[in-house]
Amino acid sequence: MTEHVDVAVVGGGPAGSSAAHAAAANGASAVVFEKGVPRADREGLGPDSTDAAGILDYWVDIMGIHPDEMPDDVVLHELDRAEFVGPHESCMLHDTGIDASYDGFGFTFHRAKFDDWLRERAEDAGAAYRVGTSVKGVETDLDESPRHVLSLANGDELAADFLVLADGPQRTVTNRVLDRYLPFDVTDRLDSTEVNHIAYQEHRRLPPAVAEDVRGAIRFWWGYIPGHTAYPWIFPNDGDVARIGLTMPIGVDLSTVDDREKYRLLRSEDDRIPQGREYVRRLLEQEYGDEYDVPDDFPLVEDRGKRGGTETYAISSTRPVDSPVDAGVAVAGGAMGATSAFHEGGDHVAIRTGRIAGELAAAGDLSRYNDAWKDAIGNEVRRNVAMADMVRDYGPDDWDRAFRTARKMLAGREGYEMFDRTLAAGWDAMKLLAGYKWRKFGLRGSRCVQIRDDEYVY
Ligand SMILES: Cc1cc2nc3c(=O)[nH]c(=O)nc-3n(C[C@H](O)[C@H](O)[C@H](O)COP(=O)(O)OP(=O)(O)OC[C@H]3O[C@@H](n4cnc5c(N)ncnc54)[C@H](O)[C@@H]3O)c2cc1C
Repeated sequence: MTEHVDVAVVGGGPAGSSAAHAAAANGASAVVFEKGVPRADREGLGPDSTDAAGILDYWVDIMGIHPDEMPDDVVLHELDRAEFVGPHESCMLHDTGIDASYDGFGFTFHRAKFDDWLRERAEDAGAAYRVGTSVKGVETDLDESPRHVLSLANGDELAADFLVLADGPQRTVTNRVLDRYLPFDVTDRLDSTEVNHIAYQEHRRLPPAVAEDVRGAIRFWWGYIPGHTAYPWIFPNDGDVARIGLTMPIGVDLSTVDDREKYRLLRSEDDRIPQGREYVRRLLEQEYGDEYDVPDDFPLVEDRGKRGGTETYAISSTRPVDSPVDAGVAVAGGAMGATSAFHEGGDHVAIRTGRIAGELAAAGDLSRYNDAWKDAIGNEVRRNVAMADMVRDYGPDDWDRAFRTARKMLAGREGYEMFDRTLAAGWDAMKLLAGYKWRKFGLRGSRCVQIRDDEYVY
């Protein structure tokens, strides 16, 4: 006889683990299927822990997990600022400007250890994990109870009343499930090359003076590489180790890039967009090459990350989707597109949406899920989507102008909330502010979603 649980969860990242934790803590039987990814910094298989983890102060409240609850080795670095560097202008945030129970600006953390702790928490609550087990497909019959039958790569099957899809931005299972309830092809809205960015990062040891310079800071370089919300960054880890990487859209055509000579990390001889590794090399040469011998002074830390100190991931960069809740299905986290294209932050919304899905599934009714996630993270999603939309066509000059303007606005107010307040900082500031406010207003209610609740057909 086919095994049967209340809640089956596809994917054991932050969204899946919090769904399983919430479901089990509320009395449901829950199983997480995690295909299992090998990493240099974890013994055995675990989730695909996209190890570039920074959390801002107010995200702590969205997550509903304070770092004090985490084991000591999870938090790596306390942050006190974010630095935004343009080709000629820059600005700095010391405060997100959003009320938060966490005292500092934010922190970076060890994502694999964080994910392992989330798993432990879910298992303590009674959830089961099958790691190394891919979900191949899901058959659903709405007239049956249980409704869903998951087929697993090992040939087994498992039946479940509720399905939480938390398979991350690749959406290998999510897309096939959603397709059944849509009158159009799911890839019209969720083609992975259109709605995902590619992210690449390296773990490198910094020379002491550089490590000191970036201590406490997450640094983003905007207007350095072409593409919508494409930017390199440094996130400090423990000691003198930092993750240096970038995110960019998939398949940018260099021949369509205007003013390409203004992008500091492009070269006139480039005949295509450089690979992530080459961009990181150029960034380090550009920023530190005058003083340092980069290959020797910024060595790769090879026992970190996925393999050889480097990692490549997809990252969702679209608007979130509603879920086909009448079929007993909730999509959470990266799979629902909740990760921000603007700043890549997504762990907080993954944890929150997973938790809501798990709680509602345990209560036996998912129908409130689409409203409930909007109540919980709608403001964050609107803020992130509005910011990403606003900068969609920005080139290097626009970034310089934006940072110049932001500096004036910041002189009066601190943080992201400067965009939510009316400030007298000149015409450019008003345009920047109006553009943001207009977009955010236009995204109210269901307008911020990529696939709406009422588009599903059962
Ligand atoms: C380079 C980079 C930098 C980032 N920086 C930050 C940051 O600083 N702060 C932040 O908050 N967020 C950051 N994010 C975003 C964050 O990593 C994601 O938002 C978050 O991982 C989403 O969690 P999730 O559980 O939804 O998905 P994931 O973490 O992607 O987990 C999905 C899981 O599903 C598993 N899976 C997939 N298919 C199957 C299947 N068929 N069967 C079984 N298992 C399956 C995968 O192996 C994976 O473990 C970053 C992302 C990237 C790529």
